Amino acid sequence: MPQAHLYRSEAVILKQMSLGEADRILTLFTPLYGKVRAVAKGVRKPTSRMSGSVEPLTRANMLLSKGKDLDVVSQAEPIDVYMAVRGDLEKTSTSFYMAELIDAFTIEQSENRSLYRHLVNSLETLCDLKNDGLGNIREFILLRASYESGLLNMTGYRPQIHRCIECGLVPQGSVSFSASGGGLICQRCRNKQTVTRPLSVGALKMLNLLEEGGFAFLKKQPFQEDISLEVESLLRQYIWYLLERNLKSTSFMDSVRRGVSMDRFEYTGQ
Ligand SMILES: [Zn+2]
Repeated sequence: MPQAHLYRSEAVILKQMSLGEADRILTLFTPLYGKVRAVAKGVRKPTSRMSGSVEPLTRANMLLSKGKDLDVVSQAEPIDVYMAVRGDLEKTSTSFYMAELIDAFTIEQSENRSLYRHLVNSLETLCDLKNDGLGNIREFILLRASYESGLLNMTGYRPQIHRCIECGLVPQGSVSFSASGGGLICQRCRNKQTVTRPLSVGALKMLNLLEEGGFAFLKKQPFQEDISLEVESLLRQYIWYLLERNLKSTSFMDSVRRGVSMDRFEYTGQ
């Protein structure tokens, strides 16, 4: 009998679903093979030695074998279980969002090392954020925005924020953003796009800075609360347009936000 084709890979488990009595189907994200769907056999049995290593949002070293439809997880050794994310709702909902975005924007068997590194770095940064329940919602918003911006860039969906998407000129004066057009609209071209939203000078500056640097760079910038919220809302609308659906984790994040800090920030989730 020929030996099953085995391969090793590091992976972050994006999600799981039950299969039969004792198995799970895992959706993995790997540096070399992109998204991979694989069966973890017997992991729902109490005696399984692998169960702790295949929970969602665990980073693990895996030994997999090629299957006809789905690959099979033969071994899994955890590298990081992101303990600081678990038990903190703001962090948990953000980590689910990060995983769901990757799942939505990637296809199976498509190498994307930089996106894998971006996910791992962002999860590590999320673990390190201080969450006192009120004070640093700003940092969560900036981390999510830098994660979204990097992901859009690495998957080929970076919005055009330097020139008008209709006339190609650098806009002068007030500008708008078109989610369906994927970028800026100057004042003269505004009528050519049906759905646009006004874009403040501060939000445009923040979008530019998002392209220039990651979270560590961004959090040193003196953004006002309303600018961060405007960019958060714009990126969400753009992503919604690209995917043509809402992500489950965005409602989770919104309900956590309402529970945690509605009084202080009057956030409406728009
Ligand atoms: Zn124009």
